[in-house]
Amino acid sequence: MKILVMGPPGAGKGSQSQKLIEDYDLTHISTGEMFRKSYERGEKLGIEAMAYIHEGNLVSDEITNEIVRNRLLKKDAERCFLLDGYPRTETQAEALDEMLSEMNSKLTAVINIVVDKDIILERMVGRRVCRNCGHTYHTKFKPPHKEGICDKCGGELYQRKDDQIDSVRNRLNIYESKTKPIIDYYKGRGVLININGMQSFDAVYRDIKKALRDLT
Ligand code: ADP
Ligand code: ADP
Ligand code: ZN
Repeated sequence: MKILVMGPPGAGKGSQSQKLIEDYDLTHISTGEMFRKSYERGEKLGIEAMAYIHEGNLVSDEITNEIVRNRLLKKDAERCFLLDGYPRTETQAEALDEMLSEMNSKLTAVINIVVDKDIILERMVGRRVCRNCGHTYHTKFKPPHKEGICDKCGGELYQRKDDQIDSVRNRLNIYESKTKPIIDYYKGRGVLININGMQSFDAVYRDIKKALRDLT
């Protein structure tokens, strides 16, 4: 199974991807998470990328395509993977097609999580992320058992700089102009699955699983 999870920032891509990779045993490839990890490790790539990310801008297609290409070439991505947050531009979508055809492979499904703007804003400003394992929480909708501490690993929770209101607005505008148009790119191929993301975590997940079951 080879899946893309798309949707605006804050739609729930990461949260739903987490469950999908466990249930279907998929290799999780999140470009945002790869950039954050690289930055935490003090690597040049991560530091360069973070300058864009902090402002809510996209990292260049060149850098992003390169890290995805290298990741897809690893053994654990051969059979099944879930791409979360990539592609985000038409150039990236075309690059992904090229990578897949080189691998003699194609996408099983593109899951598009649909959420209105006002809900997105509330989700993003309340998001907290574990500095250690990357697990995501929400101050109101998914609080940790102990404030500021990750349930899974005991790591420190923090608010991403790009989840502050000014960056969020910029990210939403970029989503509308650069990312949303590629949904049509996939619609034409009959692999697109639209999911109503304005429901509980479990209800969204139930709908995704049902749609995937109907595919096979
Ligand atoms: P979210 O989960 O809120 O959608 P991500 O963690 O996926 O955010 O990404 C965080 C940031 O990393 C993005 O706002 C962007 O700056 C950068 N980024 C992630 N994926 C890509 C990509 N495919 N192309 C360009 N930039 C990206
Ligand atoms: P994305 O990866 O698309 O940016 P996340 O999965 O990180 O989105 O979710 C954004 C925030 O919204 C997180 O704090 C998460 O806990 C919360 N969230 C995600 N899905 C739901 C939902 N269905 N109901 C309520 N809150 C949600
Ligand atoms: Zn953790």
